[in-house]
Amino acid sequence: MKRVLPPGSVIGVLGSGQLGRMFAIAARRMGYRVHTLSPDEDTPTGQVSDVEIRASYGDLDAVRGFASRADVVTFEFENIPTASIEACAALVPVHPRAEVLHITQHRLREKTFLVKNGFPCAPFRHVRSAAELETAAAQIGLPAVLKTAGFGYDGKGQRLLKSPQDLAPAWESIGAAEAVLEKFIDFECELSVVAARDQDGCFAPFPVCLNTHSQHILDLTVAPAPIDPRIAARAVEITRGILEALDAVGVLCVEFFLTRSGELLVNEIAPRPHNSGHYSFDACVTSQFEQQLRAVCGLPLGSTEQMRPAAMANVLGDLWAGGEPLWRRAAAFPEVKLHLYGKLEPRPGRKMGHLTALAHSVEEASERVQAARAALTDRAAES
Ligand code: AMP
Repeated sequence: MKRVLPPGSVIGVLGSGQLGRMFAIAARRMGYRVHTLSPDEDTPTGQVSDVEIRASYGDLDAVRGFASRADVVTFEFENIPTASIEACAALVPVHPRAEVLHITQHRLREKTFLVKNGFPCAPFRHVRSAAELETAAAQIGLPAVLKTAGFGYDGKGQRLLKSPQDLAPAWESIGAAEAVLEKFIDFECELSVVAARDQDGCFAPFPVCLNTHSQHILDLTVAPAPIDPRIAARAVEITRGILEALDAVGVLCVEFFLTRSGELLVNEIAPRPHNSGHYSFDACVTSQFEQQLRAVCGLPLGSTEQMRPAAMANVLGDLWAGGEPLWRRAAAFPEVKLHLYGKLEPRPGRKMGHLTALAHSVEEASERVQAARAALTDRAAES
């Protein structure tokens, strides 16, 4: 039965990164309390939570202690053992439910779910040995992408295979017992739909995003995606179908490839708010983080209406190569918002923050956010 959790309730968040941080900010703004558990301390989420617990995700005693003090548990990171989610679920409601995490944290299970339910995705094969990789490559054809079956994100554990000579070294280098070989898609663009489903089954999509990746990591998002509205509508309908088939409660993101022939293929499902939805914090009536709070607390979903065209650019640790970025310079753009995640150590490829620009068109927003990001390291302009 649906239980509505009023402000003052404790939301337990497994994981302690930037997604948990922005969720906690939204939750605390509405008067909720946030407890976070992760193996780290002084974390992006912990810094803005009421309670930060340091324990491994597999420490079931610590996980049970954390869950017993919460009114509901959610997660901001998918590489959490299913047993830990189940241990929470024995004590308190968990949204999305453990099965959603179990399916989406493993590429093979996720792709099998997509095919079984009739959702479009790139052709793939299950691979467990170098010999199976050869057979799979012969069936799918090259180029193809070899991906570890579990625990991958931001392109980690992936190899592009262009010729038969690439197969054996790629199998060695991913060092996994299980992998997926996927046809390389020469896509027109990448899109994503962030959407929420509440405990009554109501569905609320945010505007479709157009995403550009660099080195497999999201670089730039513009919203609403400047694409044929029929394609946007189809992406939203596929997303609705996926959330329903998963019987998910919460905010999820479905990432798509749009092929050159106009076909949408699901690339990945993230069972949580997503980097491509960060623009909603500044540009929509309800952010993806507030929406997650509403869904897990049994509140009605908020409006996902976008108030201004927006663009979001990630701020990676690479920008620290020449010293601390010049924050003042980004602040000089009056319609650009700076978000920093409180991470202490900037490393190349690490997501340290993001910038969101609002404008009168997505083109203008995109130019503006990239100019603001470039200004962060433009030391010549300082002298
Ligand atoms: P993933 O971690 O699977 O989302 O992959 C990260 C990024 O790598 C994607 O957003 C794409 O830019 C690229 N990529 C992954 N799989 C493929 C594929 N089958 N064909 C073309 N590009 C891909």
